[in-house]
Amino acid sequence: MNDRYFHPESLMMSHGYKPALSEGAIKCPIFQTSTFVFNSAEEGKAFFEVAYGQREKQPNEELGLIYSRLNNPDLQILEERLCLWDEADECAVFESGMSAISTVMLEFLRPGDVILYSKPVYGGTDHFINKVLPQYGIQGHGFTNSQSEEEIVGGLKEKGWDEKVKLVYVETPANPTNALFDLDICRKVANRLSHSEKEVVVCVDNTYMGPLWQHPLKHGADLVVYSATKYIGGHSDLIAGAVLGKAPFMQRVRTLRTFLGNMAGPWTGWLLMRSLETLKVRMSKQAENTVQVADYLAKHPKVEKVYYLGHLEEDTDQYRTFKKQLSCAGAMLSFDIKGGEAEAFRFLNHLKLIKLAVSLGSTESLAEHPATMTHSDVSREDKESIGITEKLVRLSIGVEHPSDIIWDIEQALEHC
Ligand SMILES: *Cc1c(COP(=O)(O)O)cnc(C)c1O
Repeated sequence: MNDRYFHPESLMMSHGYKPALSEGAIKCPIFQTSTFVFNSAEEGKAFFEVAYGQREKQPNEELGLIYSRLNNPDLQILEERLCLWDEADECAVFESGMSAISTVMLEFLRPGDVILYSKPVYGGTDHFINKVLPQYGIQGHGFTNSQSEEEIVGGLKEKGWDEKVKLVYVETPANPTNALFDLDICRKVANRLSHSEKEVVVCVDNTYMGPLWQHPLKHGADLVVYSATKYIGGHSDLIAGAVLGKAPFMQRVRTLRTFLGNMAGPWTGWLLMRSLETLKVRMSKQAENTVQVADYLAKHPKVEKVYYLGHLEEDTDQYRTFKKQLSCAGAMLSFDIKGGEAEAFRFLNHLKLIKLAVSLGSTESLAEHPATMTHSDVSREDKESIGITEKLVRLSIGVEHPSDIIWDIEQALEHC
């Protein structure tokens, strides 16, 4: 179509949409419809043959529209646009981040299998791995970013679980402390546990950095998952998720989605397309603001420590991983306030502009207390080893004027 390579942000307004198919409307309408009319019985038959995998698509054949649980233009166009950022073959959009994550786990794990996962992971993911999957005979084995390839594999061998691992699941940077995992190590571990009869799949939750600043498929991941509720949606007004990756894996994910019926609806698809148009400007502004907030906090006498990727010490493994995997320090940070829960709560209760709420990545700045909110379900032992203490406060920085954000933090800290 074009002889020029356009950057993803230049294509977010138009890619995959043909105005002529919608009365010339410049924007994709909301296809609020459950089913689609076939031109003939033969056409209906042909569409189903492809949709149910009874035959391969012909070279120029497009999958026809059948029924909105299988396909709908608002989802298909959105999925094509999301593929551009991660350079993925395919994408499937879900009704939440959790439905994207749980569908991947259910597709790639069977009774008797083990999931190897990075610690910490998002609270809902942790619950699914440790409370839901065991009911289906699937066990979880966690690893931290201080463990080497040898130590991770050794830990599995001790339990006799190395043969059972089918899925390596990684969240990096980890929430809420921004701990980084080296994806090369994760890929190497998966390769060591794979053989001719068993391919271990690597899946990365890229919610914190994606789709702009980290592209796990380029670092050996097979699949990437998102809570599209966060940066991709970006306005705190919807819940959605996405899975992206290589075609053979995506085929399996998409098929299970069809039968679990947990795809997003057309209205959510339309809202996400609208969000994608401003994704780059929003995230860039958020990251710029975060540099200023982090620098301010680092100098504040009531702040003990700031966890921000832009402040990593050079000549450390974390810094090397950062340089290799990420193109930006992001817009999430957390900090230890001097004192404990009482001081952290006083800070949160006195904020005037920044909202006290969980979630992240939206246009407005948000603050929360991980130990008693997002991570309250994590065991005391894990909380301690990961650094989720009573004095930790997490901030998601928005697009407001940076001096207003800093003013708010300054006046709230005066009460601590
Ligand atoms: C929010 C979040 C999820 C869950 O997504 P939902 O859209 O709330 O279902 C998963 N992973 C991470 C890192 C998240 O922040």
